[in-house]
Amino acid sequence: MGLTMSWMTRWFPPRCLLCGEPGWRGRALCAGCDADLPRIEAACRRCGEALPATGPGLPALTVCGACLWRPPPFTAIEVPFAYAAPIDWCVRRLKFHRDLAAGRLLGELLAEKILQAPPSVGAVVPVPLHGGRLLERGFNQAVEIARPVASGLAVPLVTEALNRSRAAPAQMDLPADQRRANVRGVFAPGGQPVAGTVLLVDDVVTTASTVREASRALLRAGADGVRVLAVARA
Ligand SMILES: [Zn+2]
Ligand SMILES: [Zn+2]
Repeated sequence: MGLTMSWMTRWFPPRCLLCGEPGWRGRALCAGCDADLPRIEAACRRCGEALPATGPGLPALTVCGACLWRPPPFTAIEVPFAYAAPIDWCVRRLKFHRDLAAGRLLGELLAEKILQAPPSVGAVVPVPLHGGRLLERGFNQAVEIARPVASGLAVPLVTEALNRSRAAPAQMDLPADQRRANVRGVFAPGGQPVAGTVLLVDDVVTTASTVREASRALLRAGADGVRVLAVARA
């Protein structure tokens, strides 16, 4: 696979998925489109919510008030992008049109972000889809996104660490309180054991209720700690 990819990249350098210009850094994204991505600059290290600006001369906040008051079950979350154009387009291309090139690009962007300060993690775990949804869609978008992250960090991609007991309606269509109720108890430890700190990967986080529930299940499955990495915050 690795050999095939490098051969392919040498002879057919990727074109930008967004504008068709030659890709940059061996990716299907050009330098101009990369510079225009909707990056999130200041966000809480624990939950990923945007942080308020502090006054002049005061140190910038790194953790929000809500997390100081009631810390989430994961130790850190990184969400580099806002769910806005063209990131939302790439997520939809992957999810609903099975555009694996879009998935690889999102995964490579996440890998680039996490490799700026690589965390010490023993495994990368994608948020699972419910079995029925997986059959219907044929693939799990979080696995596609997690793949370049796991290979960038050189740790195993563990796809059976969690089970999802029911298919939730699309979280983004529900109000916040229903989202929380919707995912409560939905994850259970799966067949594959986990240990040490685990990096949980998802595509889009909205209220973070899904990654909270999945983190709790990973802690029950034996993980010492969970860090979260997602593409975009809606
Ligand atoms: Zn471009
Ligand atoms: Zn927070």
